Amino acid sequence: MSEHRASGAPGQVKEITSLANPLIKDIKSLSLKKFRDQQNAFIAEGLKLIIDAFELGWSIRTLVFAKAARDNAAVQKAAARTVASGGTVLEVSEKILSAITRRDNPQAVVGVFTQRLMGLSDIRPVSNDIWVALDRVRDPGNLGTVIRTVDAVGAKGVILVGETTDPFSLETVRATMGSIFAVPVAKTSSESFLDWRQGFPGLVVGTHLKGAVDYRTVDYADRPVLLMMGNEQQGLPDALAAACDRLLRIPQAGRADSLNLAVATGVMLFEIRRSALSLAAEDPAV
Ligand code: SAM
Repeated sequence: MSEHRASGAPGQVKEITSLANPLIKDIKSLSLKKFRDQQNAFIAEGLKLIIDAFELGWSIRTLVFAKAARDNAAVQKAAARTVASGGTVLEVSEKILSAITRRDNPQAVVGVFTQRLMGLSDIRPVSNDIWVALDRVRDPGNLGTVIRTVDAVGAKGVILVGETTDPFSLETVRATMGSIFAVPVAKTSSESFLDWRQGFPGLVVGTHLKGAVDYRTVDYADRPVLLMMGNEQQGLPDALAAACDRLLRIPQAGRADSLNLAVATGVMLFEIRRSALSLAAEDPAV
């Protein structure tokens, strides 16, 4: 390992060429949940995501960039920012970046961040806030897409209920396209969720293939909404379905027996927002 000053970065940059380097081994291990949990850390790939993270107040532990990106002004700025906040900057070969990200054509920059989960007791829904609860979500692409959609629609956050895929896996973070840094995520057991739900000060709607109510007929305005979505294989279990004020159905026309979880969540979220906004638009005071 050698050290040099990257032009533009005020601190030292460690140049690493060996996959056996212990710093690289630690970062590489973050592709496994066990080590993510041990280190309480996760990897985000790409300069855009890292800049998003800085803008949203996340502090970075380690910035890793490809030798080929050494002269890129934005990379130098990110390196300077990492050093200024006490983080480590590593310059590595493309082979090392491939090993870290498990990709043949890796991004030129990756960052290591500390995981952040919020507690259910910190959620205080007010006015038109929308929260999404996902029951035992299995697929990292679905979870990442839901987090991204929650961000896009302006909802407040995601609650993961029961055994779920890891919000901090490489695949999930990739699918969020940076929204992992913008959307609060909470994780809880089904029992604690049901306790917490008792105090939810608004409308609790679940989506269900056997839902009695068409999702377009509900007035979601003027109160917080909690949207519950079922597991990809089994749908909402009875205990969670029974905790909903309404069970909603998205009518389908073709032969498919259900929508993909993330698609169904997107359809619901934009309808909930439309309903709330159209009422606000009719209000002369707004
Ligand atoms: N076989 C599962 C079942 O019986 O519910 C299908 C689950 S579906 C892939 C995943 C989740 O998306 C469902 O639990 C539900 O929350 C939502 N969903 C998908 N299509 C829906 C529809 N047409 N109406 C209401 N919810 C739907």
